[in-house]
Order: sequence, then C-alpha cells, then structure tokens
Amino acid sequence: MPELAEVETVRRTLEKEIIGEVITDVIIRYPKMIESDIDDFKNSIINHKILELKRRGKLLIFMLSDDKCLLSHLRMEGKYFYEPNLNLDNKHVHVIFKLSNGYNLMYQDVRKFGRMWIRDEKDLYETKPVTEIGYDPILDKEYDINAIYKKIKNKKLEIKSSLLDQSIIAGLGNIYVDEVLFSARINPHKESSKISIDEVRRIIDESIRILTMAIKYKGTTIKTFTSSHGVTGEYQRFLQVHTKTICPCCNSKLICDKIKGRTTYYCSKCQGE
Ligand SMILES: [Zn+2]
Repeated sequence: MPELAEVETVRRTLEKEIIGEVITDVIIRYPKMIESDIDDFKNSIINHKILELKRRGKLLIFMLSDDKCLLSHLRMEGKYFYEPNLNLDNKHVHVIFKLSNGYNLMYQDVRKFGRMWIRDEKDLYETKPVTEIGYDPILDKEYDINAIYKKIKNKKLEIKSSLLDQSIIAGLGNIYVDEVLFSARINPHKESSKISIDEVRRIIDESIRILTMAIKYKGTTIKTFTSSHGVTGEYQRFLQVHTKTICPCCNSKLICDKIKGRTTYYCSKCQGE
C-alpha cells in the first residue's frame, strides 16, 4: 500500500509533468470511484487548469483553476501514469484525464479501492476527506503534542493499530509504523492507553526522521508498489525490522505476528515485552 512517502513520491513525479496543463476531457470507466456527483465532477474538471499538486497524509490534492480541488486517494493499489498514447485495452485504468498537451493522465487501480472527490477550495479543509486526516509529520511544522497524546490515550487498541488510524498521525502505514515503533523502542502490542507523553514525542520524532528519509529515497518498493512511471523506491534498503528476521541492534530473532490482521515485525528485547 502506498504510504506517505510513496504518495509524496507520486506527487513530486507528477508535479513536473502536469502543472500548467488544462484538463480537456475526462473519461470515467468506473463511476463508483467518484465520490462526488458525476456531472459536478466533470464540470469542475473539464477546461480547468492544474495549478498545483498538494498532498495531505496519503491524499493527493490537485488544485485547479476557479478554486476547484480534485482529491485522489490511491488506497491499496492506485497508480498514475502519464502517457501520450491512450490505451483503453488496459481494463485496470478507470479514470483518464486528457490534457491540453496531448498527454493522458491515467489512473490505474487493480483492486478499485481508490476514490476521488471534488471540493471547492474554500471548503477543502472543512469537509471530508481532509477533515479525517490528522497530523502530517512532513507538512505540519508545528503540532499539539497534548492533543495527539490525548487521541492516542483514548484508543482502546494496541499502539500499532492507533498509529494506522489516519485521523491521529497521517501517512503511516504498515511498513513505517513497524519502523517507527522499533526506533522509538515501543512494543507494537502495547495498549494505547498506557503510552506516555514521552513515548508519543519519540513516535513523532521518529516519524519525522523516517518519513523524511523515505521520501529522499522515493519510498519503499515491496511487492506491487511503484509510483507513476514505474519509479522504484529504494528505502527498503534501510528497513530495520519490517520484512526482516534478525534485530539489527541485539541480534535476537525478530517476532513476526499479526495485529488486527496486519503483519507486524518487532524485537521483544529492544521494544519490551
Ligand atoms: Zn533487538
């Protein structure tokens, strides 16, 4: 699944290609993917210029002319391709944006979980899905540690599951949560209600450090993830525990189990029982 670093990589890749282009037409082959009214969606996009490409958590936000915003969540397998030729034979391409330079921005999604919305810029931060996205460790230079601590404490879940909740800290997925908890020396099974404010501070510090480095290396390529253009991430070279067998700190055998169905790697010695 693309996490914050991978979505940021998609954003940076696409930004170089599509900014300044006008969307001349849109082909929607799987209408369920569009969360807004289809006519409103089309009218808000066609003949609008792409001014800027933003990101919040794992959400891509295309800022369009006339104060319109196109929001795109890639979910499990969403990818963008930017190509001169329109290939309609690919049945996994569900939305195609035709651009004024003759190129096509194609949204491919094998599992069809991705979603798109249209919002007016003035409502962007007041409406879903943006309101459901919490603190972004890369974008938000300031944060309220007490507010984040309180949100985590109120969760009746193990800390790993709380960190996957995008309304608390945005952008961490299965890979980076394991890495952050290892670096912060916290057991992923620890009850969220027992987390201390000092541990929350460590989680945030490590999230910033790890995500910054993951973005530098264009994300992590495990299994199916590639961003647009087949950009391959290289952060997998720096993973400490996720997909690994031996702890890099103490040489103990790492534990691999499941937390709410998500495969989890950790060291019971370094991260506590
Ligand atoms: Zn260890």
